[in-house]
Amino acid sequence: MSTAGNQDNSQQRNRILALEAAARPLDPDHAEREALLTTAHEYAQRLLEELPDRPTYGHDKSAALRIRDLPVGGAPRGIDELLHRVDESVVGPGIMPAHGGHLGYIPGGGIYSAAVADYVAAVTNEYAGVWFAGPGCVEMENLVLGWMAELIGYPAGHAGNLASGGSVASLIAVVTAREAAGLRSRDYERAVVYSTSHAHHCLSKALRVAGMGEAVHREVPLDERFRLRPDALTALVREDRERGLKPWLVIGSAGTTDVGAIDPLPAIARIAKTEGLWFHVDAAYGGFFAMVESVRSRLAGMELSDSIVLDPHKALFLPYGTGAVLVRDGDHLSNAHTYDAHYMQDAASDERELRAPAALSPELTKHFRGLRVWLPLMLHGVEPFAACLEEKLELARYFRTRMEAFGFEVGPEPELSVVTYRWVPERGDANAFNRALIEATHVDGRVFLSSTTIDGVFVLRFAALAFRTHLEHADLAIAILRDCVAELEAQPERWALA
Ligand SMILES: *Cc1c(COP(=O)(O)O)cnc(C)c1O
Repeated sequence: MSTAGNQDNSQQRNRILALEAAARPLDPDHAEREALLTTAHEYAQRLLEELPDRPTYGHDKSAALRIRDLPVGGAPRGIDELLHRVDESVVGPGIMPAHGGHLGYIPGGGIYSAAVADYVAAVTNEYAGVWFAGPGCVEMENLVLGWMAELIGYPAGHAGNLASGGSVASLIAVVTAREAAGLRSRDYERAVVYSTSHAHHCLSKALRVAGMGEAVHREVPLDERFRLRPDALTALVREDRERGLKPWLVIGSAGTTDVGAIDPLPAIARIAKTEGLWFHVDAAYGGFFAMVESVRSRLAGMELSDSIVLDPHKALFLPYGTGAVLVRDGDHLSNAHTYDAHYMQDAASDERELRAPAALSPELTKHFRGLRVWLPLMLHGVEPFAACLEEKLELARYFRTRMEAFGFEVGPEPELSVVTYRWVPERGDANAFNRALIEATHVDGRVFLSSTTIDGVFVLRFAALAFRTHLEHADLAIAILRDCVAELEAQPERWALA
């Protein structure tokens, strides 16, 4: 090689080494890792210890905007300063889902062992999409999905996927149902979907995202406890067939978001079978309650569905980012999601790839979600999860009884862990009063409650599902509601003006 060539070569080598040195902060050494993690760990410890004294709901959200004070692309900052910003701008304002006082919507989880699993998943950064690259990830994900399938009672032959949440899991189910029925775009306007008005909105969204926004969506009438009426379903399906439409999909809920109602799943399954409909069950909230012996029978019929969604980031108490879909006949799931690509040729020939996440969902590269499900279940066993869910069922009953005793109007005895209630003032508009009541609890912020409107009636909700929600939170919620009612009764100008 010429001298000039050698010189070029060494110049290039020096440039590469200089870039390596400049990028070195991305790969901290032992001591630097220790320092980062210790600071983050100390922050987490302090936060969890302070939790009982911190509000569940930060009503003043102005601190969130201070995130903008630190623009991306500026000088590097220290971990202390950055975690301080996180605490002030992220953890403080709005709802703190890690708090036991979170009693609104359907609360989430955040168990510590899953956070540790996420840390390990991120450090190893294992590839969970295909068996060829991450055989252990795929096996682990399928193992935990198999456990869920067994819990709901699916026979062998099922397949499933750990998606990012219940909504994406529902989208996967809808696309699978569409492909299984062989629907093509020319059929969409005649395809009919059946659900009650209490079905979760993520299913309408999934239909639209799946390109089926023009499908006919029938609202099946409800019984007095907000459950689908099977007789009405049968009548609607027959009418639609007579009209030349194509009844396609029926959605049953195993725990609605509003009131926790469980649709009559066995009856819906029978109709679906007779009428040739795909039966999807939304068990995002309620499915894992099958772990509790005393309510198991109430959830019977889940095993008769063609597809089902469960949300481990709700009733399995995991941090946000995990929803599960299961399909009874796993071939339908893989038929709807398999792919072919020349750069995937190393993996293509293995049968096991047909039961790997990349062939069962819209994702290719994905977070290694299996570890955050597997590690907690293996570390703790399933018993503590079942106990925690049973505690929530009891808390909901306890709350309802106490509220009724204090003169609140309460909704039906809960099938799961959601209670609805309202205060009916002696004079004036009850809806206006209860709107002011929920607002007053939000300003207080020690617990977080949410509201909904059922048949034009504004009601408050108590949803016990956060794993840190205990008796003390139910008692605190009751005390706050009583105090707020007393204040509002004494100050009618706060709600009765209109
Ligand atoms: C939360 C919920 C969903 C949506 O799940 P995400 O995880 O929020 O996307 C769907 N159905 C029911 C019954 C739910 O409670």
